[in-house]
Amino acid sequence: MKIIKSDLHSIAVGPKQYPQDDLPEIAFAGRSNVGKSSFINSMVNRTNLARTSGKPGKTRTINFYIINDSFRFVDLPGYGYAVASKSEIEKWGEIIDRYLTQRENLREVVLVVDIRHEPTSQDLQMYQWIKSFGYTGIVIATKVDKISKGNWQKNVKIIKDKLGIKDTNLIIPYSSEKKINKEKVWQVFEEIIS
Ligand code: GDP
Repeated sequence: MKIIKSDLHSIAVGPKQYPQDDLPEIAFAGRSNVGKSSFINSMVNRTNLARTSGKPGKTRTINFYIINDSFRFVDLPGYGYAVASKSEIEKWGEIIDRYLTQRENLREVVLVVDIRHEPTSQDLQMYQWIKSFGYTGIVIATKVDKISKGNWQKNVKIIKDKLGIKDTNLIIPYSSEKKINKEKVWQVFEEIIS
């Protein structure tokens, strides 16, 4: 995919603030600090389009990034930060639920996990939630540059087992730092938005 243009389109809490057109969207969910912003930035060759989290949990909005004027990446608020109160978690749930249930533009929701760690029970909940809406269940296992190639398969297997994934090909090891598997991910995304 040749990226000609990428911009922040809008920041939303509720549906009224979502972009009002019919461009296809791919959304990204994941734990705070997992590397979701870095993933988005690396895919579009930017260093600071998506905000990278200095402060975990600061992001309670849905951010829409428009790419090549033809489709969008949607950054969903991260979860799993230690200091979240019950009302914050409820708010987070509402924001995501409304987007997942009401957004016709949405083509796929992709879960971003850290390849070094076994997914948490929140990751599993998120994954099951995504699957329950009928999405494919693609997982980006990022920060793969932090482990040796000999461990890729072992760590992918841990993610596969924890999330109950049948098809290993749904889990794509990735590195934002080293751009590992960037073209492969674009191939998958191009299919989704075409
Ligand atoms: P977010 O909260 O999920 O958006 O996470 P960020 O994108 O802000 O990343 C969290 C931290 O992980 C930052 O310090 C990033 O530099 C680092 N990071 C993210 N992706 C990678 C990667 O692929 N490789 C390495 N080595 N570090 C990464």
